Amino acid sequence: MNVVPPALERLIVDLNRLPGVGVKTATRLALYLLRRPAVEAQSLARNLSELHEAIKLCSNCFAFSESDPCLICADPQRDPSLVCVVEEAADLMAIEKTGTFKGQYHILHGVLSPMDGIGPDEIKVGALIDRIDKQGIKEVLIATSSTVPGEATAAFLIDRLQSKKVKLTRLACGIPMGMDIKYADEITLGRAIESRKKY
Ligand SMILES: [Zn+2]
Repeated sequence: MNVVPPALERLIVDLNRLPGVGVKTATRLALYLLRRPAVEAQSLARNLSELHEAIKLCSNCFAFSESDPCLICADPQRDPSLVCVVEEAADLMAIEKTGTFKGQYHILHGVLSPMDGIGPDEIKVGALIDRIDKQGIKEVLIATSSTVPGEATAAFLIDRLQSKKVKLTRLACGIPMGMDIKYADEITLGRAIESRKKY
């Protein structure tokens, strides 16, 4: 006998579709929402239903934004000749939090992954090349992750952009803050030595 009311069951099924949320967590979250005041669930429902209507992709950098161009592309204080290429919107948010980058972005919305059928046409590479050709970009900072697909994407971009008159840079890799050197793996330590900087 199924004792879960259908409305609750439907919510559990929806929550279970989210990444990293199993049936147990989905059930716990759904019951939590049910226990909380109705106004909280209504606010969540309203935000979810407005998500796709309110937020679009910036036609220049492909960031999620309520305006087009996005706030960063429209900001006259940002340097349009310096473009940081990232895999996804969360990477942009992480770099923005540092407050140290003053250029614009280009979000690829993915990484090259031939095994999953993701080639250059599936990510925003063509649009990046168009921007370089048309917008007088002087430096492209490639900030893809140091994972296998992230490195493959960086290598592909370096190969494709080498013929352009742009300076190509890559985020330095090194020892995380607060980490003891003796516990670093040899790849990280090797990269840190390669990326050493002069004082
Ligand atoms: Zn933008």
